[in-house]
Amino acid sequence: MPDQLLVLGSASGAPSGRRFATAFALQVTGKLFLIDCGAPVSTLLYRYGLDPLDVHAIFLSHWHMDHVANLGLFITQNHQLHRPTELKIFGPRGTRGKINRLLTDSFLLPEKLRFPLKITNIEPDTPYQEGLLSVSFFKTQHLEKPAHKSNFGRKAMACGMVLSAPGWRMVYSGDLVSPHELSPHIKSCDLLVHEMAHHQPETVADFAEAARVPRVLITHLGEPFDEAPEKIATAFAGRYNGHLTIAEDGTKVQLSQPA
Ligand SMILES: [Zn+2]
Repeated sequence: MPDQLLVLGSASGAPSGRRFATAFALQVTGKLFLIDCGAPVSTLLYRYGLDPLDVHAIFLSHWHMDHVANLGLFITQNHQLHRPTELKIFGPRGTRGKINRLLTDSFLLPEKLRFPLKITNIEPDTPYQEGLLSVSFFKTQHLEKPAHKSNFGRKAMACGMVLSAPGWRMVYSGDLVSPHELSPHIKSCDLLVHEMAHHQPETVADFAEAARVPRVLITHLGEPFDEAPEKIATAFAGRYNGHLTIAEDGTKVQLSQPA
């Protein structure tokens, strides 16, 4: 099966009647991964013919609820079902402590989990290799505002990711202040997965065109676009000459060509 990205949730901070909050299922040579965990991922995986116990690793961009709200339930489900294999979770600074507190606060001691859970607080710009998949996180400006820093200190950290495997390379924006934050990372990417919760679509279209990225997947749709995604297509028309997809929940994007 060709490598594929499946949008489980295409909403932003306010899930709507049409869209769940952010999560993706990524299949790489048949191996299953999750990117963010805002949507009810377990139920959705079943509905798309996938098994939550087959998820090999989860990559978290940051700890806003629209990106992590279903992580606790995913872990406790794997516990209840006696997951037979290790689960890996990669996330920004503080992820290990947050997950351990989440479990303890919901009356499950981390050391009593019925499966091995390996949590990695990532180092930015360090590639993590999982089979044929390589993931490199980079810090974004989303949580770098002075208010975040004064209230939450160093732990306020948001990331995007460059993900690649033989035959494809994509950049996932996470949440950004400006698409130009992606400039150092978009080189050689054949797919840009970009959020549309904090930007004008024209800005993202101009950036994608200047970066000459051949395909764009717009997701994480903010409220003005939730029921009117065609507004994004209209803004991209005449500005971006590549292939544009605007995500709905359930949108699938093929990453590699079939052998
Ligand atoms: Zn978000």
